[in-house]
Amino acid sequence: MQYKDFKDGIRLSRLGLGNMRLPVIDGDQGKIDYEKAQAIVDACYEGGVNYFDTAFNYHNGTSEIFVGKALSKYPRDSYYVATKYNYMANPDPVDEFTKQLEKLQMDHVDFYLLHGLRDEMIDTMVNIGAIDYFKKQKAEGKIRYFGFSYHGTVAGLERLLTLNDWDFVQIQLNYYDWFLETAKAQYDLLTEHNIPVVVMEPAHGGMLANLSEPAAEKVRAVSPDGSLASFAMRFVQSLPNVQVVLSGMSELSQVLDNVKTFSDAVPFSEEECKAAEETAKTQKETVTLPCTACHYCCPDCPKQLDIPELLSAYNAFRIGGPFSLMRLLQLPEEKQPGACIGCGSCTRHCPQEIDVPSAMKEMAEILEKMKNR
Ligand code: SF4
Ligand code: SF4
Repeated sequence: MQYKDFKDGIRLSRLGLGNMRLPVIDGDQGKIDYEKAQAIVDACYEGGVNYFDTAFNYHNGTSEIFVGKALSKYPRDSYYVATKYNYMANPDPVDEFTKQLEKLQMDHVDFYLLHGLRDEMIDTMVNIGAIDYFKKQKAEGKIRYFGFSYHGTVAGLERLLTLNDWDFVQIQLNYYDWFLETAKAQYDLLTEHNIPVVVMEPAHGGMLANLSEPAAEKVRAVSPDGSLASFAMRFVQSLPNVQVVLSGMSELSQVLDNVKTFSDAVPFSEEECKAAEETAKTQKETVTLPCTACHYCCPDCPKQLDIPELLSAYNAFRIGGPFSLMRLLQLPEEKQPGACIGCGSCTRHCPQEIDVPSAMKEMAEILEKMKNR
């Protein structure tokens, strides 16, 4: 296992276990399968992993309880626990932090983060005193290092950096977001500020481990022996300011593959870097619909749907998963994908011949499930 110096003599494994995709019983996210999940924690620990990441809300609030119990068999100074304050789950930082220590059965947390910050949440964090409260917990030794995980813009990240002397920051970083989104700009900004980066979603929520065939071919051409997941991991591992790469492992085979990747530490070549950029572009082209937002389809839609806008949400879903569709639930029902009657007028007008009704149907089904949760 590769380790990287953090500070105060601490050496963190470059691979960390994210405890949000643990095996569960009967598909119920709140019922962690302790036997299988313990085997994953043990295999990570034995493979040299010493960074275990959880959050207040993972597995419907049960992940922290599991993590505390699973690690209790090991000496407390042989691993580091990271957990997070989730404003949406419980806006009261005092109450949430008190419960977290109870759930973990620990007297301190090694790495503590404000969870999933976006631009519009920054003022809230300041106004409710969350940053000051957790700084106080750090001064009292209940938190060793304080940071945040981030999903916002580069400008928002810049602003956050002015609000505290952060020990570390967790961002979404993978070769897709590096070449096609803002991950590189965020990484560069944090590096300029000498802030170590913890990486989440190194395989873009699993997308880079399950590429479309044309995209996967590009990886195999330069890296025929490793898995698609290890190619993605090696990209982030090759960035010098990456402190820990989190992987939400749910099977032992993933642990073995990841431990091997982070033990062999084969550097990413220039040729592989070029292939990663090409792969990202191909993946985008092959999994998204080629809507150019020309609006030719709109005037004759009997339901007057904003078709290009809905297809843009569809493409975000194809890249980022079902939660990318959540924003559509804010629309009036008659403007949501479920209002589509499948008449096909849009496809007949579309220069790209996009099968719009199928995309609308798929989105409508997913949104229906979300509403009924
Ligand atoms: S198929 Fe749906 S989106 Fe397309 S024109 Fe008909 S109602 Fe509108
Ligand atoms: S006509 Fe086709 S490409 Fe143009 S906005 Fe409609 S779906 Fe998109």
